[in-house]
Amino acid sequence: MKIKKLPEEIVYKIRAGEVIEDPSSCVKELIENSIDAGAKRIEIYVEEGGKKLIEIKDDGEGMDKEDLSLCVEPFTSSKIEKIEDLKKIFTFGFRGEALSAIAKVSRLEIKSSINSNFEGYEIYVEGGERKYLKPCAHPKGTTVRVKDLFFSVPARRKFLKSSAHELKKIVQVVTKYALSNPEIKFLLKTEREEVFNLNLVKDFEGRISELFGEDYLKELIKIEKEGKNFSFTLFISRPEFIKENSTKIFFVNKRPFYDNSFIRAFNTIYSEKFKSPDVFLFLFINPEEIDVNVHPQKLEVRFSSKLGFPFRIVNIVKNKLDEKKENKKIELIKALKGDFKKENIIQLEFGEMAKKEEKREFPLYEDLWQFENTYIVVKFEKGLLIIDQHTAHEKIIYERLIKEKNFKTLYLAFPIILKLKPDEFYTFKEIQDSLEKIGFDIRILKEREIQIEGIPELIKRFSREIFFDIIYSLKKERKIDPENIYKEIACKSAIKQGDILKKEDMTGLLIELFALDDPFFCPHGRPVMIQINKDDLDRRFGR
Ligand code: ADP
Ligand code: MG
Repeated sequence: MKIKKLPEEIVYKIRAGEVIEDPSSCVKELIENSIDAGAKRIEIYVEEGGKKLIEIKDDGEGMDKEDLSLCVEPFTSSKIEKIEDLKKIFTFGFRGEALSAIAKVSRLEIKSSINSNFEGYEIYVEGGERKYLKPCAHPKGTTVRVKDLFFSVPARRKFLKSSAHELKKIVQVVTKYALSNPEIKFLLKTEREEVFNLNLVKDFEGRISELFGEDYLKELIKIEKEGKNFSFTLFISRPEFIKENSTKIFFVNKRPFYDNSFIRAFNTIYSEKFKSPDVFLFLFINPEEIDVNVHPQKLEVRFSSKLGFPFRIVNIVKNKLDEKKENKKIELIKALKGDFKKENIIQLEFGEMAKKEEKREFPLYEDLWQFENTYIVVKFEKGLLIIDQHTAHEKIIYERLIKEKNFKTLYLAFPIILKLKPDEFYTFKEIQDSLEKIGFDIRILKEREIQIEGIPELIKRFSREIFFDIIYSLKKERKIDPENIYKEIACKSAIKQGDILKKEDMTGLLIELFALDDPFFCPHGRPVMIQINKDDLDRRFGR
């Protein structure tokens, strides 16, 4: 075997394959160039998913004859000069290889002008071979036409997918740059239709609603942070709008990037596994703190480790979400209290489940109803609040199990005696301490036979079935800790769907619920209530 240096021609073709992989990566490079040139409007036109033609027209600063001649040569760039420049890149491009790579593998025509007298130049390169450079009429800015991508590398052309598939990838790419550049107008068209025509909007939310609709924007919470070393604007799904499949798009200094650790970290925000929110992160940071030159297509970035990303960002978001919850709670309580009739004091009772001494005095709240024996519908100042009776009660019990210090035991007139199967018995042994801590009084009579003499007073509903339910659920858990146990107890002993509630029960539930730090989510992360504002209704009825 003999090692030979590869001919330059081959090296270029290999490199071209790294940068330009398909029509969408070509579109990406060209959009980046237009943005770097200071364009305020970018028009993109593609035929056959970009396989036949990609045309990108911008109103940026343009190129003169000399630059036009140079830009298609390998490693030519106006963006960096010295090695130190690599450390602080403010532009999207810097590798100086996109246009030369495209020139090698397509029929590339670039028209450009740096003045508004329509005096420009055009250059044409076919499969890397320069055909002409001549004057042409062109407004200030640049138009790049890429025809027959990979015509000179048939092996690559074979790997391109259907036009529909290539178009989908192009739409995704343009959508990303449109999201992070709301001050630029984007037009995306195919031979068949206009995909979108975006106007100038003033901020990210304007763009999100232009692209995905006003209603979608309402499903998101906006969080902003102005820090010393970094700042960001982030949009995250409100928990009640989380769908099965989520979209997560991250930008740093407007550059889209992909990072699995960010995805995983954002999925911990709403705690439970099935909570995968949509996230749009627009992060801004001193370019010296990131390395964008770790991927040939610049799809990944590396952050300086002292920044502690992504968890630092996730923690900020969590705290801000908590603050927002607190404010929302205060606002809701204020709105609700306005309607409590002071003179109308009643006795609170959780249906038949209440124990005499548990009765407390509460004002009666009139404007609430039970729907389908499942939801409590409450009218308040701004609209309607729909509360899931089970999750609400579950949350109340869970919080008390976690927070209370002195648990009282309610002794049963008729102790419950249970015979357990071996695995049930050992599950019970595993949780016995946690049960006793919250007020259970349980005696082991003989091997695998137990007698429940007392239950925690704060549990309103208990039976042999509930005890078995709890044991069954915990038996399946891989890890049993007190939190799990209390979640199960709360879930199994709470009011269920189908339980009929009286007005006073519902009032009591509401009062206890709003006394919690976080009344909005159950221990499993599901929403406890959904708010429908009158404004929303008015809008939907076209008022
Ligand atoms: P890079 O963007 O990494 O510098 P490219 O090969 O993408 O490398 O582009 C080479 C050079 O061509 C750029 O540095 C820029 O000076 C010029 N250029 C490319 N596209 C445009 C454009 N749309 N408007 C003005 N100048 C451009
Ligand atoms: Mg470039």
